[in-house]
Amino acid sequence: MRSLSQRATVALVCLCVFFALAVTGVGVVGIVGVRSATDTGKLIAGDEVVTFAATAQIARSMDAAYAVGEEALLTGNPARRSQLARELYTQLVPAVDGELSILQQLHAHDPAAEWKNVALFATRWAAVRGLMVSILVVSGPQPGLATSLQTAYQPVSDQLAGLLTTEEGGAQVGASQAGSKGAATVWLIVATIVVGQVAAAGLALAGSRRMRRAVEPQQDRIEFTEALQIANDEQEAHQLLRRHLERSFPGTAAAVLSRNNSADRLEAVTPLPEGSPLLSSLSNAEPRSCLAVRSGRTHHQSERDPGLIACPVCAGCSGHSTCTALTVGGEVIGSVLLSRPAPYNRVEDQRIQESVDQAAPVLANLRNLAIAEIRAATDSLTGLPNQRAVTDTLKRMFAQATRTGGPLSLVVLDLDHFKAINDRLGHPVGDQALANVGAVLRSVLRVGDFAGRNGGEEFALLFPATDVAAAQAIAERVRAGVADITIPGVDLSLTASLGIAGYPDHAGDVDKLERLADAALYLAKRSGRDRTEIATSIIEPVTASELVPTNGRRPVEVQPAG
Ligand code: GH3
Ligand code: MG
Ligand code: MG
Repeated sequence: MRSLSQRATVALVCLCVFFALAVTGVGVVGIVGVRSATDTGKLIAGDEVVTFAATAQIARSMDAAYAVGEEALLTGNPARRSQLARELYTQLVPAVDGELSILQQLHAHDPAAEWKNVALFATRWAAVRGLMVSILVVSGPQPGLATSLQTAYQPVSDQLAGLLTTEEGGAQVGASQAGSKGAATVWLIVATIVVGQVAAAGLALAGSRRMRRAVEPQQDRIEFTEALQIANDEQEAHQLLRRHLERSFPGTAAAVLSRNNSADRLEAVTPLPEGSPLLSSLSNAEPRSCLAVRSGRTHHQSERDPGLIACPVCAGCSGHSTCTALTVGGEVIGSVLLSRPAPYNRVEDQRIQESVDQAAPVLANLRNLAIAEIRAATDSLTGLPNQRAVTDTLKRMFAQATRTGGPLSLVVLDLDHFKAINDRLGHPVGDQALANVGAVLRSVLRVGDFAGRNGGEEFALLFPATDVAAAQAIAERVRAGVADITIPGVDLSLTASLGIAGYPDHAGDVDKLERLADAALYLAKRSGRDRTEIATSIIEPVTASELVPTNGRRPVEVQPAG
């Protein structure tokens, strides 16, 4: 599932990269197109420059022809006149005619109004040209003709000046327009590309976030399911459920509450942080005080609106809380309480319910498994751990002691003349006495200590981080407790003998520790019973007749205490 999210994100990013590349590609093509159009525009503008140059040339040629014609009409020198006339008709007038023809060609595709202007110019030049023909036939200065020539040339000259101004302006405007329009379009395309790429990046980011939001709850659920399946025990499963909910709903504080039917209490089975309002609201809370447990349904509550019936358990929670019943096979085994500043919406409520429903059967199975394991390791008569549990615990505590270097004391207890009690008072009374010994052991032991029934009327006690002297004090309290056992209506006198051995004082391994404790017990028996003896590491062989088989073990090195 994790890879599905990654694949989807990669696909989206690829799509956005493709989109960005497409925008860039189209933009580049656009820029190339605009560049080409600009060049074409500049070419068109170039045509206008050519037209302007042709007009300027014709103006120069006409001015030259006019000047020569005027001089020819005013000169009194016949040789000079003929020279001027020759120049006029062999060079200047043909040059103007030729250039006028080029100008007409350049304007051939002009709109009608502009072409009319050029045609008028040609007509006016024809009039000037006609007057110049007379130079060939006149003799002597002709001021009158010169004046006529000037009068005819003036409109041509004026029109030529106007043409020049128009052509020049056209050429400049054309060139600059083509350039600036092209540049503006290129910038527009570049801006479009940038916007396209930013949009693609934004799309990729927003899309991948959306995708993650859509896929993550699924991933979390699958991860949660897998983790639940390999949970070691109920406690680990409770923690998983809490962490899963807190991770799935940011800002949430979650607590798993379990009903303890034997104690008629509702207890938090996940650690509560310091200062949690549940610490006080759960103290002495009965299961029914939780409305979710009572109704078997989800209960919502908020600081502002406690609802018609306020739940005393979630009353202290700040913000909004939602408490979901933890139900297995129709039986409510507890509840899961979530709280955070923001309210939970319908979709979130549904997801919470799904998670709780998913966890409930697993928790029930783990609880049943734990009960089965406890039963398998518990002695049914006394309620104490059985011999297998004694052996396991001894190994575990011994390993712990060797790791930490701390002391560990083992005490073995055997009831005195128990066979006789059975014989005198009956087996059921013997059973009752054994059960009472179990109760005495439970009442005397401290937190962390251990007591189990080794079998028959023999018990084992383990005191971690306790040296032999301290263990002896507890053993004496146990011995006194056993001596105090009474059974109503029965004349019972019960005593016990106890043997003690300690690590590291007496033994460096488990087997030797057990054998030494047994040896001390036999010493107690041999010394008159109803007493506690401590093993020593000094070897004192025990004679075969003194050996009392106990659970297959045989005592070794022993010496009377004190
Ligand atoms: P000693 O002081 O030397 O230990 O004498 P003892 O009689 O206690 O020792 P012995 O080993 O001779 O007898 C143990 C007796 O404990 C025999 C058995 O009937 C009795 N016993 C063992 N398990 C149970 C049990 O579960 N219930 C009852 N009622 N008696 C049991
Ligand atoms: Mg006995
Ligand atoms: Mg015995």
